[in-house]
Amino acid sequence: MKIACFSTKSYDKEYLSKAIVAPHSIVFFEESLNPNTVGLLTGFDGICVFVNDKLDNNLLQQIASAGIKAIFLRCTGFNNVVISTATSLGIKVYRVPAYSPYAVAEHAVALVLTLNRKTHKAYNRVKEYNFSIERLHGFDLHGKTVGVIGTGTIGLVFAKIMLGFGCKVIAFDPTESDDAKQLGIQYVALEDVLKQADILSLHCPLNQHTRHMISTKEFSIMKHGAMLINTSRGALIDTKEAIEALKTGALGYLGIDVYEEEEKLFFHDFSESIISDDILMRLMTFPNVLITSHQAFFTHEALTQIAETTYQNMLDFTHGTSSTNQLL
Ligand code: NAD
Repeated sequence: MKIACFSTKSYDKEYLSKAIVAPHSIVFFEESLNPNTVGLLTGFDGICVFVNDKLDNNLLQQIASAGIKAIFLRCTGFNNVVISTATSLGIKVYRVPAYSPYAVAEHAVALVLTLNRKTHKAYNRVKEYNFSIERLHGFDLHGKTVGVIGTGTIGLVFAKIMLGFGCKVIAFDPTESDDAKQLGIQYVALEDVLKQADILSLHCPLNQHTRHMISTKEFSIMKHGAMLINTSRGALIDTKEAIEALKTGALGYLGIDVYEEEEKLFFHDFSESIISDDILMRLMTFPNVLITSHQAFFTHEALTQIAETTYQNMLDFTHGTSSTNQLL
């Protein structure tokens, strides 16, 4: 089968080229898949897309008309594709349900540690021969309460790491995990997680129930000065309300790898441009906000797994083998 790969970066090319072998082939396009690039699909059987290729009803209709039979998401989350529309158009959608949960969980921990111990500021100071440690103090993680929202694959790894620091871990998930309970993680109501957590980390999917799950009410319930970490999907947090909570000090620290309007910005170099997103620009003015541009997944192990699973998904599609990676 012949696959058109969109939103390609050098690392996608490197890892996917190694994994996908003849008679299957993949052609790389740097552009995202959108109404302006859909014309590139002639002669392809399938497409491979990433988190910010937004496949809405209209684009899916055009993809179907171009003869595309399968969509291979090289990511876990699938909120960017209207699955029901794809299915009704006869297009099969596959994802990579798990690829190194360690990559994402460890990045969440990196955000916690950096915000707390301010190593990013210390690095810059020392580079400038400023060896003062004034205002770089943090807090011991040991003994703090960590709230995990979503104890699936990534949330559980994150919880285990935080237990290793000597934290108490509490969690909310509509589907409770026995593995989590055996580790001593205590499930409580969402409101209680918000009230008790010194550090709150989001590890649930974005859907109609979770969009803006952290907004005005939640910021008012959260422990004053708590730290909020989001490596899942940007729209779990109402960013405008997060700014208000940061202004009052209700939110003490914010570490995000994802942002609700990220598709226009993340993964691109705007260092010589004027950024028109005033919300992101306001966020960046806070000294207690740390933003990374959707790099939590970005490890050698994860890229290898993504490429290999994408190839397996292609094989399953061509052989008609049923797969739990197919989204229905
Ligand atoms: P998963 O499906 O294994 O776990 C998600 C968990 O969230 C499940 O246990 C589910 O029951 C729970 N959940 C669902 N609705 C909930 C709600 N309303 N409140 C609390 N919990 C809820 O998924 P995962 O592999 O652990 O991934 C978690 C998220 O991480 C994904 O949805 C994806 O968006 C994100 N992700 C981000 C990156 C990155 O690079 N930043 C990479 C991979 C995944």
